Amino acid sequence: RADIALYRAKDSGRNSIHVFRSHMQALVSERLLLENDLRQALPRQQFRLVFQPQVDARSQKIIGAEALLRWQHPQRGELTPERFMQVLEESGLIQEVGLWVLRNACQACAWFLDEALIEPDNFHLCVNISPRQFRHYDFVEDVENCLKASALPAQTLKLEITEGVAIRNIEDTIHKMQRLKRIGVAFAMDDFGTGYSSLTYLKRLPVDTLKIDQSFIHDALLNSNDGAIVRAIIAMAHSLGLQTIAEGVEETEQLDFLQQEGCHLYQGYLFSRAIPPEDFHALLTATNTPDASKKNVHE
Ligand code: C2E
Ligand code: MG
Ligand code: MG
Ligand code: MG
Repeated sequence: RADIALYRAKDSGRNSIHVFRSHMQALVSERLLLENDLRQALPRQQFRLVFQPQVDARSQKIIGAEALLRWQHPQRGELTPERFMQVLEESGLIQEVGLWVLRNACQACAWFLDEALIEPDNFHLCVNISPRQFRHYDFVEDVENCLKASALPAQTLKLEITEGVAIRNIEDTIHKMQRLKRIGVAFAMDDFGTGYSSLTYLKRLPVDTLKIDQSFIHDALLNSNDGAIVRAIIAMAHSLGLQTIAEGVEETEQLDFLQQEGCHLYQGYLFSRAIPPEDFHALLTATNTPDASKKNVHE
């Protein structure tokens, strides 16, 4: 009996190893496929940028836009970054793609500026920068070149980073941020509150804005802890002289709560999803031109 039991255990062990192995193989080959396709994506012009408005609830004006990457995959359709950002980062392809994002986002924003739809001091173009991209030795020069090529004023650009950029080398991170801040570029700490040591990095990194992570916004009214965290982040930002923006605002109740707590800038489906540059242009035309200034952005 013992032998039989042992034999069965070995047998099922072998089976589960087999299942595990083929599962791993599937994952690895899926990743290889994705990476292969990603290498073609830039030359085949499969990337595009969409822009999500950022709104000041008091003035009801659009005060910025976050550029977000989309990949039109020939077989799988349009993919959002959660499907491919990790592969971009791990393969190093983010270097090239990130530069493409920066260049194209600056160009689109310069277009809005040319058409007098925005003013350089009252609007921020926000661009996400991945840790690996930020750590690249040429990063500061890359940003400067993108600004020069598009003629976008540096004070219109805001880079969104996460604390992940600083984990390897905080001194280098601070140094690069200071060089960019000196020419007028601003910084936002993205997904604030979700990292391991957000406060440690907040203390040292010269950021201008905290972006309260959408998970807290989502649960702010459902869970008193999340509500308390949002309240504390806003209060802390105020006393540190930082701006706060809430991301992922979907409901008017969330907006009411945020405003009551003193956070007036927001980004979320309640106002708009991320839209193509032409649509953003039309939205600015409808809301930010002088004769439209009394129009409510929710209309
Ligand atoms: P993120 O920087 O935190 O961007 C906000 C994400 O939340 C976007 O997802 C946006 O579409 C989504 N979002 C905005 N409002 C709402 C809302 O009301 N409800 C919900 N449920 N979601 C909302 P997206 O475009 O899929 O991007 C996901 C993440 O991918 C970004 O998170 C950012 O970390 C990264 N990412 C996107 N574009 C780029 C890029 O060009 N470069 C780099 N390095 N990362 C990027
Ligand atoms: Mg972001
Ligand atoms: Mg975020
Ligand atoms: Mg996020």
